[in-house]
Amino acid sequence: MPYKFTFDLSRVPRYFFTEMARIVYEKRVHKKVGSALKDVIRKFKIHEATGLSLSDAVQLFEDFVDMEVRNLLEREKFRKSKKRALFLPHCSRKHMDNKCKAKFEPSIPSYICAHCSSDCLINQAASIAEKRGYDVYVIPGGSCIYNILKTKNYDGVVGVACGEEVKLAGEALSRANIAGQAVPLLKNGCSNTFFSIKTLEQVL
Ligand code: SF4
Ligand code: SF4
Repeated sequence: MPYKFTFDLSRVPRYFFTEMARIVYEKRVHKKVGSALKDVIRKFKIHEATGLSLSDAVQLFEDFVDMEVRNLLEREKFRKSKKRALFLPHCSRKHMDNKCKAKFEPSIPSYICAHCSSDCLINQAASIAEKRGYDVYVIPGGSCIYNILKTKNYDGVVGVACGEEVKLAGEALSRANIAGQAVPLLKNGCSNTFFSIKTLEQVL
C-alpha cells in the first residue's frame, strides 16, 4: 500500500475536489499548492472529517489535485478516443475471498467479474462501462496495465486507483500517447476500498 496512512473520503463533498482543481488549474500552480491547499483543507475541516493529520491530508490532496488537473488537461484528447478500456482495482470487490466468484485469468492478466453481487462496486462499474463499449479489466496491481497496453491498441483509458498507482499509470500512458482519465479511490486500505460510481459515470 503506497500511503503510510489509511483514509476514507466518502463523506467529503464532490465539489471540494472540483473546487480544488479549478483553483489550481486557473492559477497554473498545481505543483506549488502546499500552503493554499492547507488553507482549503482547514476551511472545509477535512482533517477533522477524515481523522488525517494535516500533513497526510496535504500529501493526499496534492495527489488528488494532480489527478484532477491531469484529467482536465487530457479530457479533450480522451473525448476523441475511439478504443477505450477501464481498469478497476481488485481491492474494490465486495468480497476478497472465495465468495467473490470472479475468475483470475493470468494470461490477460485480469479478474473476470462473474456479476455475483448486485451491490459490488466492481460489478456496477463493469456493467456501466461494458454497455458503453469499454473493455473492462479488474487488476491486482498497476504493473498489469503495462502488459495489457502492450497487446491492445487503446487510445483512451480510464483507471480507478489510489493516488500513487494513478501517478505511475499516468506516466506510462503519457509515454504511450494514450489519453488517460483517473477516478480516485475515496477509501484505501487494499481491501473493501471505495470509489464513487457517480464520478466514474461522469468520466466514462
Ligand atoms: S460482483 Fe464480480 S467482483 Fe464483485 S464479488 Fe462478485 S464476482 Fe467478485
Ligand atoms: S489501488 Fe487498491 S490494492 Fe492498489 S495500492 Fe491502492 S488501495 Fe492498495
